[in-house]
Amino acid sequence: MIAANIEKIRQQLPGHVKLIAVSKTKPIEMLQEAYAAGQRAFGENKVQEVVNKQPQMPLDTEWHLIGHLQTNKVKYIAPFVHLIHAVDSIKLLETINKEAVKNNRTINVLLQVYIAKEETKFGLSNEEVIELLNYASTQQLQNVNICGLMGMATNTDNTTQIENEFEGLHQFFNTLKQEMHQYPILKAESFKELSMGMSSDYELAIKHGSTMIRVGSSIFGGR
Ligand SMILES: *Cc1c(COP(=O)(O)O)cnc(C)c1O
Repeated sequence: MIAANIEKIRQQLPGHVKLIAVSKTKPIEMLQEAYAAGQRAFGENKVQEVVNKQPQMPLDTEWHLIGHLQTNKVKYIAPFVHLIHAVDSIKLLETINKEAVKNNRTINVLLQVYIAKEETKFGLSNEEVIELLNYASTQQLQNVNICGLMGMATNTDNTTQIENEFEGLHQFFNTLKQEMHQYPILKAESFKELSMGMSSDYELAIKHGSTMIRVGSSIFGGR
């Protein structure tokens, strides 16, 4: 069942789009089933949960922290996390850098941009992203690698609205890529990823430039 769901999604994906299997709240047996089907990238949104699951999965499992992250919890995931999708403050970026130094590694991150017309979602405005990049470029943050942007569209049936939100982020991403020389913290070989799209809207996200989709319920069932 899980294997078939993964296969069905993979068949729809262009080669440049990576599938992150969002396994939050799901038991380890389900992750193992996905792993056996060839899935390596898993998304979790709670630090405690990913810390519990990580030792129970093979070492080449890639852990993606997709939810809001508190600075005081970064230390627990710093030794092993593959990509932190939801960096939304300079303080968090600095903390990730500090913990990466302690672990003698570089940690990959995405900046979360607020694109939805909803009160509840975290993230930075475009202006705040630029402020963060300007400030971060003056700091010595050599152990974080900014790989791109992440966004979540409004939870709505209005596909035009969803497409507009995704396209807005896509255009902002392209603008930053074009103006990358203004932000020394950004590196052309790294700043390539646009994490957008979930079970309900990943087809639309891919249409608008997504390179990473975060899919939970369409693989593991509802939560
Ligand atoms: C839960 C979650 C997803 C996956 O949602 P589904 O609708 O189950 O595919 C994707 N991104 C984030 C940030 C999430 O918290």
